[in-house]
Amino acid sequence: MNVFSIPLLTRFRGITVREGVLLEGAAGWGEFSPFLEYDAPTSAPWLDCAREAADLGWPAPLRDRVPVNVTVPACSPERAREIVLASSGCRTAKVKVVEPGQEPGEDEARLEAVRDALGADGLVRIDANGGWSVDEAVRRIGVLERAAGGLEYVEQPVASVEDLALVRRRVSVPIAADESIRRAADPYRVRDLGAADIAVLKVQPLGGVRACLRIAEDIGMPVVVSSAVESSIGIAAGVALAAALPSLPHACGLATVQLLGGDVVAEPLLPVDGYLPVVRAVVDEALLAQHAAAPDRVEHWRRRLAEVEGVRQGGRP
Ligand SMILES: [Mg+2]
Repeated sequence: MNVFSIPLLTRFRGITVREGVLLEGAAGWGEFSPFLEYDAPTSAPWLDCAREAADLGWPAPLRDRVPVNVTVPACSPERAREIVLASSGCRTAKVKVVEPGQEPGEDEARLEAVRDALGADGLVRIDANGGWSVDEAVRRIGVLERAAGGLEYVEQPVASVEDLALVRRRVSVPIAADESIRRAADPYRVRDLGAADIAVLKVQPLGGVRACLRIAEDIGMPVVVSSAVESSIGIAAGVALAAALPSLPHACGLATVQLLGGDVVAEPLLPVDGYLPVVRAVVDEALLAQHAAAPDRVEHWRRRLAEVEGVRQGGRP
């Protein structure tokens, strides 16, 4: 079994190593990399996504490249500027705000630096990761919109779907739902409550490219395709979704391979002039060997995969 283990250059969701299984089938390679704390039923759509990639392949692309954003963490203005200038031509910047332990003024300073580095014609979006209350969100979004010289949208200003709907009714900046969408039923709830203008979709947790295309069509909202910080094999599935969507009005959050200290393909899916190419990524055997997980981790993933396959054979919940 092909189990990879790649160090993360920056801590993400409290983890420092990204692990997963690579499956090869008639159509190519698929990645199964649910986060370690996910149980078997929650991980089942992740396996559907990997199987689709390996066994079926993806619907025909409608475009040959996909615009992506550069992500600016909750860093100093100087560092934010460097990141934007080194972003291989990305014209959209996603800036993290509301970092615990930081002063609000640090968000304003970071946004001013990003706008300065990006220029007037770039787009700036902010991601609060659910860190505000409703009243705080309404107040701070106005302040940050001025500091950034305009905002494309605000990602997950508050934690709950109900509160997203309240914020959306009180601000003019569009709202995107990210953490509020984790399972296949969630995008429908976001739509039904009028909680967001934009849906952030990730292919693995939502069950693959076809499943996401169906969701996007059903909910009738603009979609931003984002990653779960996969290797280039997993990222290729996100790119396939972004390439097959009838309309793609926003840059996607798929430029995350640079967060990893290695990859399993010879040509990693990194942005060129602000875009990722639409390609079928192929595992490089030497790189896979280099990033192969230790035997105890292979055993862990073997058990896990068998459990999730058990869930699928028992039928969909
Ligand atoms: Mg987010």
